[in-house]
Order: sequence, then C-alpha cells, then structure tokens
Amino acid sequence: MKSDVYFLSARTFSKRESMARIKGPIGLQKIGFEDKIRKDDKVVIKTHFGALENTRYLRPSYIRFLCDYVKRLGGHPSVAESCGWGIPGAKGEYGGRANEKEYLEVALRHGFTPNTMGAPLLMLDGSEGLNYIIQKIKGEYFEEIRVAGRLQEFNHMILASHFKGHSGAGFGGAIKNLGIGCVSKGGKTEAHTSKTFAFNFEKCEPDCNRCVEICPTGALARTQNKQLIFQEDKCRYCYMCSSVCKENGAIEIGTVSRAQFIYQMVDNAKGVIDFYNNENISYINYAIDITWKCDCCGGSDVPFVNDIGILTSKDPVALDQACVDLTHDSFMNRNSILNEIQGLIPSEKYKWFSYIPRFEEGEINLNKEGIKDHHWEIQLQAAEKIGLGNRDYNLIPIEIEQEE
Ligand code: SF4
Ligand code: SF4
Repeated sequence: MKSDVYFLSARTFSKRESMARIKGPIGLQKIGFEDKIRKDDKVVIKTHFGALENTRYLRPSYIRFLCDYVKRLGGHPSVAESCGWGIPGAKGEYGGRANEKEYLEVALRHGFTPNTMGAPLLMLDGSEGLNYIIQKIKGEYFEEIRVAGRLQEFNHMILASHFKGHSGAGFGGAIKNLGIGCVSKGGKTEAHTSKTFAFNFEKCEPDCNRCVEICPTGALARTQNKQLIFQEDKCRYCYMCSSVCKENGAIEIGTVSRAQFIYQMVDNAKGVIDFYNNENISYINYAIDITWKCDCCGGSDVPFVNDIGILTSKDPVALDQACVDLTHDSFMNRNSILNEIQGLIPSEKYKWFSYIPRFEEGEINLNKEGIKDHHWEIQLQAAEKIGLGNRDYNLIPIEIEQEE
C-alpha cells in the first residue's frame, strides 16, 4: 500500500501562504499531528543548527513557528540537536559541534537561541554526547544501536529535516536525521566506521597520555606502575580517544565503504524508530536550499535545483523518496557545481543525486567526470528493506485557500 506524502509548494504569493508560519503547521496537521498532542505534552523538534559558516541550514524562523504551533496546541516544545563526533575545539570542516557547550555557541551565531525559539535548546544525547539507550535490532550490520537518551523525556518528536545532498549518503533527509541525528555521539562514529574498536597499546608513542586526558569516564587510565588500561565497563563509546590518538594503530575504529556507511546509518534509523515508535514521530522535510553539501559542512555551495517546498508524511522513506523524485524532476541550476560536470547528459532534468560530489578514500571528489553512482538509491532501498517505510507513495499537493 502506498504512503501519503503531503506537498506544499515553495511558491508563495502572500503572507497567507507563509512557508514558515502557515505551510509548516498545515503540513503537520495533514499527517494527524493535532490528534496526537495532549495538553502539556512535551514535544521535541529535532533539527540541525548547521556547522559554523554553513549558510544553507534551515532558517530559525521555520522552527520558531513550529514551536509557536506546538504551544497553541497546549504542548511544551523544545528544540534539539545531538553532539557531533570528535573532540571539542576541532577546527576542521566538521568541527565545533562536539559537545553541547560548543554546539550551542554555533546555534547562537546561526540564530537559534531560547529567545529566538521561545523554547529550550538541548542535545538529545546529553551535554557530552554520552547519554544513550541501547536498542537491539536485526540490522544489516548492527545488532544494537545507541539511541540518543534524552528522547525518552518527550511524548512526541517532530523530525524537522533540511532535505539536501550529502557526499556520503547520496542525500540527507528524514532517514539521515533519524540515523545520524537521533543517535549518540558514538552512534554517529559507529555509522561512519566499522565498529571494530580495538586497542594495541604496544604501539603507543612514548610519554603519550592524550587518550587518558580526553576520556570523560576514566575508562582509559594508568595503573600504579603507569601501564595503560581500558576498563570496558566504564566506557560510554564516545570514541574521543580514537580522535586524539595519532595514526599509529594504537587505537583502531576501522573504515567502511560508502555503501556500508549508508547501511549502518539506516540500521541506526531502525533502532531509533524501534525505540521511540513511529507513531510518536511526525516527519517534515524542507526541500529548499538543496545543495550538494550537507548542513554539517562549514561553507555552502549554491543549490543545484530551485526550492521545491515543504513535504510531510508519517513514512520517512516515502517522504525522502518524494523529495528525491521532485529534485530529479527539477531543472538544474546552471550556476551550480553540476553544470561543471563534463560528459553529463545535457538534459534539463536528470537524476541529479547520481552526479553530486562524493567522498572517496576520505577526500571529496568533485566528480567533474560525471561518474554516476546510486548511493541515493541504496539509502532508499536499504530503508525500505529493513522496514522503515515504503518507497511507493501518493503525492498530495495542498493548496492554501486565498482570502476573498
Ligand atoms: S593516545 Fe594513542 S598513542 Fe597515546 S597513549 Fe593513548 S593509545 Fe597510546
Ligand atoms: S575509552 Fe570509551 S569513554 Fe573513554 S574516550 Fe574512549 S570511547 Fe570514550
């Protein structure tokens, strides 16, 4: 059976069709959000605040108007993200989001504060990314998932996702917001690596103590005779020790192919849904500012298609599939990176996600040769196969009534 996906176009002629104030709430209403909310329910709106210097993340007003909507229904909104992988103070492309303190500093610079949201801001996996609950699953690669622990404080989650490209996953939408955004700091690391966490202390550099100093739980420690030990029962799997250990093989976390990363991300998403129950999640995708770079990259490129609109569904797979299809049915922006690809069929509409730049061997390949891949489709296939939802959908356009 097909899943329903509601579509509110980005085209707007007046305030009555405001994308932020009107269309977002109407999209949620269409999927039954108002029937689920009871007075004094706690509602968490999970979004992405954008990496520092990214300029294509969701504008704060989209989220503020969702907070106001939740309040009108008698609920208590909070706005949430989760800690990024790695260590505090990292300066690279993905740095600056390793714990609540530094991520809320980025959020402030990007316009997300308790004042602008009219709601508290928090990290779903706690201030250091160590708060998680283990959910058992039968995944393609994983048997247990580190679901962000603070999710259990809320009656309902609005998963407010910016739909855009992603150089690892092909695209990023609702599935990725579940599988990366709603797991702990360590859950993110595990999706990107081979979950083969191993210590080879015989390879340690002399006098090095970096991992002991960064470990937040004391799981890595020195004995009285200065021997380095790992105490598994104290470990909260944040993997910060591996981030500070130089590449000498003393701490291994392994690497995976892009396809395996996608399967593991989808396994994570399955764990989140099994833990939280799909009935308690309302999915809203903002298919606007669709760049090849995701929100977790510092720096943004121009969108490769025009803004599409807001889509909502009870089914994250149908929702992402609809956004992919609408993107592929859009005219390519000639000012975007896709126009630089040589050898690409010069069609005005195409399966654009097959040609966006991608990660290869740890580097971004701008893919100017136009080498085709189907990682966007692997994500959708894997999500459907594991039971996250349905790739078949009914697209239901919603028109906003104009005043006489
Ligand atoms: S950071 Fe790496 S090299 Fe240094 S003590 Fe820890 S395991 Fe050994
Ligand atoms: S030993 Fe465990 S808790 Fe300590 S830094 Fe490494 S992964 Fe984190």
